[in-house]
This record gives sequence, C-alpha cells and structure tokens, in this order.
Amino acid sequence: MRHRLSVQAYVEGVLSGNRMVLSRAITLIESQLPSDKELAQQVLELILPHTGRSVRIGITGVPGVGKSTFIEAFGKKITGLGKRLAVLAIDPTSQRSKGSIMGDKTRMEELSHDPLAYIRPSPSSGSLGGVANKTRETMLLCEAAGFEVIFIETVGVGQSETLVKGMVDFFLLLMLAGAGDELQGIKKGIMEMADAVVITKADGTNQPATQRAVVEYQNALHLFPPTENGWYPQVKTCSALENRGLDAIWTMIKEFTQQVQQNGFFHRNRQQQSLEWMHSLIRYALEEQFYQHPKVLQQLREMEAQVENEKWLPIKAATYLLEIFKNFPS
Ligand code: GDP
Repeated sequence: MRHRLSVQAYVEGVLSGNRMVLSRAITLIESQLPSDKELAQQVLELILPHTGRSVRIGITGVPGVGKSTFIEAFGKKITGLGKRLAVLAIDPTSQRSKGSIMGDKTRMEELSHDPLAYIRPSPSSGSLGGVANKTRETMLLCEAAGFEVIFIETVGVGQSETLVKGMVDFFLLLMLAGAGDELQGIKKGIMEMADAVVITKADGTNQPATQRAVVEYQNALHLFPPTENGWYPQVKTCSALENRGLDAIWTMIKEFTQQVQQNGFFHRNRQQQSLEWMHSLIRYALEEQFYQHPKVLQQLREMEAQVENEKWLPIKAATYLLEIFKNFPS
C-alpha cells in the first residue's frame, strides 16, 4: 500500500488542482481503514470552504442508451468552452461484480486524455448508500480542485437514480426513441425526477422515431405536477456520434441554473440535499453498527430462521433484535 500524505499535503495538493494528489485523496476517502477514514474527514473539513462552486449534473439511462458516447461528446463540448469537467459514476452493480456495466475509464477514450477533464470510476465496495456517500465526498474534492462542471453518471432501476438526484442540481435522463418505456426499464418515478429528457441517437434512420418520441415524452412530462423549482422539464434530442444537439443541451442547463439561482431554489435545494445527506449518514452508520454488534450477530441467524419458518412475525423479530442492540453495549 502506498504511503499516506499528511493532511496538509492532501489539502494543498487538492486546492492547487494537482491531479495525482486529487486521485490519492479520493482513494483515501474510499478506504475502509479507520485511520484513513479519520484522515479523510480532516481533509474534507479543510477543503469544505472551497466547495460548492460547480454545476452538478446527474446523467442516467439504461445500458446501451448511449451514456458513455454522450458524456464523451458533451464533455468535449464543455471542455471546449475552457471549463474543467469531472466525470464521476455510481455503479449499482459494483458491489457484486467490479464495474461490470460502467465506471470504466476506457469507455471515454478522448475525454480521458483531455487535460481539462478528470474521470473517476465508481467506488466499488460497500452498500449502494456507502458508494453514494463516497461519490458525494469525491464531488466535493473535485470542486475544491477547481472543477466547474461535475457529471455523475448512473444506471439502475430506481435506487441509484434517486441517490444521484439527491446530490445534483440538474438531472438528465437519456432515452432511446422507439423502445417503449417498459422496454427501457424506466419507471415513472425516474421520469418524474428528470429536469430534461434527451432522446439519444437522433441520426440516420432513427430520425422519424426520434420526432415521435419527442412528442410522446413532452406529453408524458406534462402529466406530472409542476415542480417546486419553477422549471418545466424539457425534451431534447441529440446525436453524440454526429455531434448534434449538444449546444442546445448546454444552453438549457445554463438557463436552468440561472433561473433557479434567481428564484432561490438552487441554494434551497443544496441545503435540503445536505440535510438529507446527514440523515442518510446516520442511517448508514446505525445500520452498520447494528449488523456488526456481537450480541445482535449471535441472535440474527436464529431470528431469521424464526421468520422464515413463520414462527415469529418480522416485526417481533426486529423488535427483539433492536432491544438487544439498545440494551447491550457492543
Ligand atoms: P451506454 O451503455 O449507455 O454507455 O451506451 P454507449 O455509449 O456504450 O452506446 C451504446 C451503443 O450506441 C454503441 O454502439 C454506440 O456506438 C451507439 N451510439 C451511442 N451514441 C450514438 C449516437 O448518437 N448515434 C448512433 N447512431 N449510435 C450511437
């Protein structure tokens, strides 16, 4: 294992935009070692005043919708404007099989060589909630390192999208034309979270279907109740392969941020997200303590068996275990 740096060296390195130190600071944050966790907290605390000054964009869509191609093309567009871009990911499958469906740097070949871009694959260990917490901290480090635009990419069937929605300013849902919503595995709840739906692969023979999809999604979005932020979710089309539609998407995101900054939602939303983050950290820590509690562990299997055999109701077993957790010091 590589030697750790001092708190000061991490902080100074990150603040000066040193990528090697940034990467090492992220590795520190992802570490499960208690001494690393402590050091990581100190680093985060010191960089905190330098965070928050970026546009945080969530990007999601089913595998094959064209996420990596889109991020590569859209990312190049953003770095082409002279802006520094960090691309992070939350891979809901990473706990099971390391980075099986995403989070692979080589997917974005050009962007990974762009001096203004920084790509970091999904953290790969722990529960989805734990992975999301690390991504959130990584986002703060990237902001402190001077990245002005942050992409957080994910793919899933609801849970990981909700986590990403809870840490970004703008949530972009990529969709394919021609495939039904069912086919794309997109739940209504995910549509409802979107600030924009972008129909990908709007080129060649796909074009008529793309136009039909635009109308369909516009109609679908109109059925949702108006959102708190005063923004009407938009439907756009793009071809990442032919580099079309990307400027309009960036313009839309700029309009959105301007509007929500003016009406106060931008700040309120981030405050709300911080509160929710605190609560999720509490839940996460409690759950971890519960499942590591030696007395709970002694009884857990027995209680599971009672529930499986329908001898005890789940509520009775849960109450019994929670009493043990509360009453016995670990
Ligand atoms: P991901 O799984 O969502 O990351 O999707 P990829 O970016 O890997 O793209 C899946 C497939 O769609 C690849 O074969 C891409 O070449 C293709 N694709 C992506 N974007 C476009 C596009 O704008 N137009 C067309 N025609 N194909 C695309």
